[in-house]
Amino acid sequence: MRTTMRVIFAGMLVLLAGCSGKVPEFDGNFAYKMLLEQCELGARVPGSPEIELCRDYIISKLQKYGAEVNDQTFSVEIEGDTLSGVNIIGSFYPELSRRILFGAHYDTRPWSDKEEDTEKWQIPVPGGNDGASGVAVLLELGRILSTTMPPEYGVDLVFFDLEDMGQYEQNDSWCLGSEYFAQNYSGEKPELAIVIDMIGDNDLEIPLEYHSYHNSPALVRKIWNIADRLEISEFKTRIDKAVFDDHYRLIQAGFNAIDIIDFDYEWWHTTRDTPDKCSAESLRKVGRVLTYFLYKGYVSD
Ligand SMILES: [Zn+2]
Repeated sequence: MRTTMRVIFAGMLVLLAGCSGKVPEFDGNFAYKMLLEQCELGARVPGSPEIELCRDYIISKLQKYGAEVNDQTFSVEIEGDTLSGVNIIGSFYPELSRRILFGAHYDTRPWSDKEEDTEKWQIPVPGGNDGASGVAVLLELGRILSTTMPPEYGVDLVFFDLEDMGQYEQNDSWCLGSEYFAQNYSGEKPELAIVIDMIGDNDLEIPLEYHSYHNSPALVRKIWNIADRLEISEFKTRIDKAVFDDHYRLIQAGFNAIDIIDFDYEWWHTTRDTPDKCSAESLRKVGRVLTYFLYKGYVSD
């Protein structure tokens, strides 16, 4: 394995507003536009030209928003083939020692192997929800962070590669980008980490993910309380199944990490996971909770 940490850009941050106490508006329509733009690139399968375009897309947005951007290259063996992956890290207010992390995966699964028709299994998943939705919300948070500073801490937006090339019966074959990121993390860990995945579903319902609830109950409570206060009823308080997602790699490495995920999605790992199954409103609901958490919730107690 090999890693390259390369500073691509360290921008000057223009603070249009300081810590005024007002929670900025999360723009769901703009986030949805960024979901569409990713899907227009084609499926973002590891090793493909399309995922390169998606990397360029994410990096150029982060640079535009004034983040310091690092990439982290690694290689993995999958069924005898060596594949190269790249995690992208956009750091806002990198000079601050107190940090929180938001993560999402940007790769899409090369196989639509939840289709009944096995002939479709070789078609890549378009990844409207499973891939593009989480990235879109993170990038909209980046836009917000470029205009308004959160109180007292910096934020790292982490875009994981190679989340979705696993085999169903083998947990360890999933989430390879986050595994590399977590195992090679140097320095002090962020105070908390929130992973979002499959949160664009226009029939949104987000129960408590089992590992999150058991590993970081206080953080889960805080997020779900914010949703309750904002009357975003799509955040459900029932404890649901354990999901092996990028947050679990972080938990394994000792991070205080949770996952916000709507895993009950009819089009999961099919050719029909397309933008029309997602909505700006769903992105806005999740984005609002995270924005509120960033600017109000985290410091309130
Ligand atoms: Zn997936």
